[in-house]
Amino acid sequence: MVGLINAEKPENLDDYKNVMVFLEARDGKIKKPGLEMISVGASMAHKVNEILIGITFGEKVGTMVKEAGEYGCDRVIGYESPDLKDFRTIPYATLLSDLIQELKPNILLIPATRNGRDLASRIAVRSRTGVTADCTELDVDPNGRILQARRPTYGESTLAEILCRSHRPQMATARPGIFPVPERNKDAKYESEVRKAKIKKEYLKKEVVDFRPKTTVDLTSAKYIVSGGLGLGKASGFKLIQEVADEIGAYVGASRPTVDMGWIGKDHQVGQTGQSVRPKLYIACGISGKAQHLMGMKLSENIVSINTDPEAEINSISDYIINADLYEVLPKLTDAIRKKKA
Ligand code: FAD
Repeated sequence: MVGLINAEKPENLDDYKNVMVFLEARDGKIKKPGLEMISVGASMAHKVNEILIGITFGEKVGTMVKEAGEYGCDRVIGYESPDLKDFRTIPYATLLSDLIQELKPNILLIPATRNGRDLASRIAVRSRTGVTADCTELDVDPNGRILQARRPTYGESTLAEILCRSHRPQMATARPGIFPVPERNKDAKYESEVRKAKIKKEYLKKEVVDFRPKTTVDLTSAKYIVSGGLGLGKASGFKLIQEVADEIGAYVGASRPTVDMGWIGKDHQVGQTGQSVRPKLYIACGISGKAQHLMGMKLSENIVSINTDPEAEINSISDYIINADLYEVLPKLTDAIRKKKA
């Protein structure tokens, strides 16, 4: 399926060059979804012989600018001001739209985090362009330098490809946890610039009094995940999952219906409407493997499925299949690991 974002007024497309990525940061560090933008942004920029420009905002940006360069941006611009310490839509959107006017990037990528989604829609309106939200695949056509922004649609049954042929920049937000974090190279060569930002008083109507991070389970950076599904049969089944997880230092994941039933918190949910993960090991216990769940974990390096149904859909992407009752397998697995460690 291909969609087109059309324009009333075609622009001079040749004026627009390079790929720009917004590197969302917090407390002087680029957040993981921002680093993920660098890997996908760099591969697209270099495919069409252009450069990757990383943009970051903060109270002090020196460390983040260095980080962005070492992770793979060819050019980094950091805006600093005490007013940029916390994410505030209007100052961030104003600086970024002005920079777009100045540098005219062909493509702009923003992580599809809460703040990123807020920012992207405002930038798109201000730049009179379109934005394809929540992409899971991104590529660029080397001939026309057209961004091929792909995202699941119709309940994951179709991957829609959205093209923005006549307005610039071509914008997309990318789903966190899908694209890899690039290798850091301390010897990387890059151009960097720190700009002191002056924010107009009228843009600071919203005052951030305090920032208290919500304690969430960040599955996106987990190395190992043991996940439970409806096959657990009851909320207390998650105790078995937790025991195995504790033994191997894993996080606990879950399918959506277990969250909907109130067996476990929403921040454990893996899948289309939960988190996208790519651990070294994903153990799926009593999970059938419906498309919406697979969407969030199919990039895991090794997948183990424990399921009584030999035909369960999860088996089609599993590296190891244990065709058995999880209530028999999990206690044995926990015991075996404990014995091995003793
Ligand atoms: P089931 O499909 O009921 O599977 C249970 C499995 O357990 C079966 O395969 C069964 O054979 C096995 N089993 C039963 N007893 C045992 C036992 N004792 N030992 C071992 N195996 C056993 N789902 C998500 O997970 N994440 C999402 O983000 C998500 N987003 C969605 C978004 C939309 C718009 C929609 C429409 C749906 C979404 N879903 C999501 C729901 C999804 O379609 C499935 O309904 C869900 O993933 C199924 O969960 P499950 O595998 O736990 O349950």
